[in-house]
Formats: sequence, C-alpha cells, structure tokens
Amino acid sequence: MTEKHRNAPIDMSPAEFRSAGHALVDQVANLLEGMRDRRVTAGLSPTKVRSLIDGDAKMPEQGASPQQLLTDAAATLMQNSLYNGHPKFLGYVTSSPAPIGMLADLLAASVNSNVGSYVLGPVATEIESQTVRWIAELLHYPADSSGVLVSGGNQANFVGFYTAIRDRYPRDGDRDLSKATVYASSETHTWIEKACAMFGLPKTALRLIQVDNGQRLIMSELERAVANDIANGMKPLMIVGSAGTVSTGAVDPLPAMADLCVKHKIWFHIDGAYGGFAAMLDDASADLRGLSRADSVAIDPHKWLYAPLEAGCALIRDKEKHRAAFSYHPPYYHFDEEATNYVDLGPQNSRGFRALKVWLGLKQVGRRGYQQMIGDDIALAHALYDRLEADDRFEAHTVNLSITTFRYVPDELRTTVGQAETEATLNALNKAIQGALEQSGELFVSNAVVRGTYLLRSCVVNFRTSLGDMEEIPDIVARHGAAVFAEMQTATT
Ligand SMILES: *Cc1c(COP(=O)(O)O)cnc(C)c1O
Repeated sequence: MTEKHRNAPIDMSPAEFRSAGHALVDQVANLLEGMRDRRVTAGLSPTKVRSLIDGDAKMPEQGASPQQLLTDAAATLMQNSLYNGHPKFLGYVTSSPAPIGMLADLLAASVNSNVGSYVLGPVATEIESQTVRWIAELLHYPADSSGVLVSGGNQANFVGFYTAIRDRYPRDGDRDLSKATVYASSETHTWIEKACAMFGLPKTALRLIQVDNGQRLIMSELERAVANDIANGMKPLMIVGSAGTVSTGAVDPLPAMADLCVKHKIWFHIDGAYGGFAAMLDDASADLRGLSRADSVAIDPHKWLYAPLEAGCALIRDKEKHRAAFSYHPPYYHFDEEATNYVDLGPQNSRGFRALKVWLGLKQVGRRGYQQMIGDDIALAHALYDRLEADDRFEAHTVNLSITTFRYVPDELRTTVGQAETEATLNALNKAIQGALEQSGELFVSNAVVRGTYLLRSCVVNFRTSLGDMEEIPDIVARHGAAVFAEMQTATT
C-alpha cells in the first residue's frame, strides 16, 4: 500500500456497476419474458453440468472483468437450470419466485443490513417485525405473538421445537429428556426426526401416530398414545400437527389436537410450512383455522407467499417464552424504547435482510392479492383432479389444498389393478414416467407414495400456472406413459 487512494480488486466503479447491473436486469427480464416457451429442466447429466462451469478448473490466480463474469454466469444459469418459475413446474413445494422479490434481494444486499442487532439494521429490524406481525395476522394468530424469519420450514420447525424444550426444561443443567415424548402423524415431514436427534431426545421419544384414509392423524390413536405414556411415567412434551402434509396436503384435526394439549399441558406445535397460508382464505376449513391455537407455528414465505428462497418464519405465541429460549442478553433499549435484537429470537447471529422480499410482496398485493392467488392455485389443483378423474387413462387419487395425486394406468393393466403383479408394474411405470417427464422438460411433477402406491404428484404454488396448463397435463403424461410402457414391455419380452 503506497498510494493514498486504495484500489481494491473487488470494487467496481459506479459506472461499471451501472452498466453491468443494467445488462443483468435486461437478461433477467428476457428470462421472464420467454419463461413459458422454454423447458422446465435442461435434463443434463451431472457430468455435463460440471463441464459447463469447467468444474475441475483450478481456483483462478488472477481476476477477470466483473461485467463479463456476470453476463456469462447469467447465460449459463439461464440456459441450464431447472426453472421453478416455469408455469409447468409443479414439483415438491417450491414456488415460482415473485419478481418484486428478485429485485428486493438486490436491494437488501446493497444496503446489507445485519438484522441480528437493532443498531446494525434499524429499518430492516422494524420491517422484519412488521412482516412477522402481518404473517401472524394473515393466519389469525394472536397479534401480540412473537416470531422470527429463518431460512425455511425446517429451521422454523426447529425454532418451535427448541422453544418448547426450553420452556419445559428452562435450566440447562438439569435437562433430563430421557422421559420426554413427542407426537406427530406418520405423514409428518422428515424435519421431525432431525429435530429429535439435534435437540438430544432419545431415539424412542418420537411417537408416529397412524393416519386415516385421508392421511390425517387419527385423534383416538393420539389420545391413546398420550394416555399410555402418562400411565407409564413418561413426560409428553409436544404434539406436532400438520397444516398440509408434504405428500398429499392433508390437514390434521388441529382444533381437537389443541384441546388435548390444553388438557395435558403439552406444547402444541404446527408445521404449516406448506399449507399454513391457506388459513387466510375466507373459506378455510375449521381444521386449518385451528392453526391459530398453536403455541408455535412454522410457516414458509418461500412457498405460498412466492418469496424467492430463502424465507421461513417461526411464530411463537408467548413472547417471553420465545425470548427466554434464545436470549443471553438483557433486553436492549434504544432511546428509552425497547428495541428488538433478532439475535435474541433465534439461532443465528449475523442475519441477512430476508424480510424485505417478503414485506414488499405483502405490500404489492395485500391480503386480497394473496387470497386470490392461493385460492386460484387450489382451484387449479381441483381442475386437474376433475380432468384426471374423468379420463380413463388415469386414476385420480387425492386432492387437498393445491396437491393432486394420480397415476397413469395403461389399457392393458386396467382389468388387473389391485393384483400384486400389476401394482408392482404400475409402481415401476409411474416412477419411470416421472423420470421421463423430468428429462423432457415439458412438465415437472414429483411423487408421493401412499400405502405402497407410487403416485405422481402435482403441487401448485405457482402464480404463473393457468387452467390451460392443467388441461394439457393429461395428454403430456399419457404420451410419455404410453412410450415408457411400450419400452418396459419390449425390455421384458
Ligand atoms: C417444505 C416443508 C418443510 C421443510 O421446509 P423447507 O423450507 O424446505 O426447509 C417442512 N414441512 C412441510 C410440511 C413442508 O412442506
């Protein structure tokens, strides 16, 4: 360092930034413009993808032009990625990203607020607090509850889970979890196994409760399990309800589960990562509305609020319990007012400004806008179900919230459905169809296995999907189905 003015290699001049930024925004706008006409997936092998980025190259010694790098990176990504923003992306529970969220992330990174502490991000902190409050309000959750944004549904569930443990066992020294038990339906997302292991519960603590034909937890089985454990000296810690299971969108009997929790003083946590936001609908079911009775809720703005990844949210009914679980500081006062330091409300220390993209989305469309989009996603799932139901080439299995499950059944197998051999063939066939669709890039669906039956699964958390897309699905799937079945038959004869 000899010169008075520093010239750091990572910096860009404002002129360079402006021109690279404009070029990038143009590339993104072109992507959005052409979204419908491209394939959902590029269908490339891992080796091919690695070669696209010159994956085995050594770390560069010298740098390169940022504008060129951005242009090239954008081109590579845009030509070869899976697009969950595509109207025919209906896999997993992954939403189409809201355009305002894309721009919000650029803005958030530019201000680069550290939303761990109030001083480092005063405006960002207030925006996050308002976002959390609005999310609670959408779900009819108490207005004086607490919450925090995290990276996704898993983390949000962990925050609720850990808060429950800290509430029951406040002192670190004598936390004996050997008799603690946790209850959830057998359809619960796999975060629950991770949570039990991460937070030190014994392997045997998790009671997976049987579900009915609609994949909902059976209340009498839950009551029996809790009573049995209490009689045996166990200490029921938490009951977990699903507000929309990940495979079929089933909603557990949440109000009855809440009653049982009150009766036995058990923490009630709800995993609403997928379906929770549907509780904002005017015609939400009584079961779904039971969400407002939970002690903690996990909900995913990067699913049904269409925020770009990552944005999850944990809501905790009791502010003090939430703070007690994560805070190792006295409350912080700013000009005589209590200020929120998000470091005291979750596991993270430095925290990004993920609230901005969620907040701007909420402000852009309001409650009515989200009600309309979520309602439309659900209506589309039903429209697909009705078409499949009326179509001889398919069996329509379930439709809950915006998830439709079904399978393709070729003519040749229709009369022997239910026989073990046919069922095995249908499972293999539908699995292969899923792979063929993915390769083709015409449509992306995932799968659900319900009582041993392999089903194709369409989940609409996509504001770009239209009725026209749903109308095209049966023919697309049947065309691939016939081809895959023909191939399977040649292979076996
Ligand atoms: C998606 C999902 C999760 C996990 O959420 P991530 O955001 O992927 O971490 C948990 N539970 C349910 C019901 C989900 O749909």
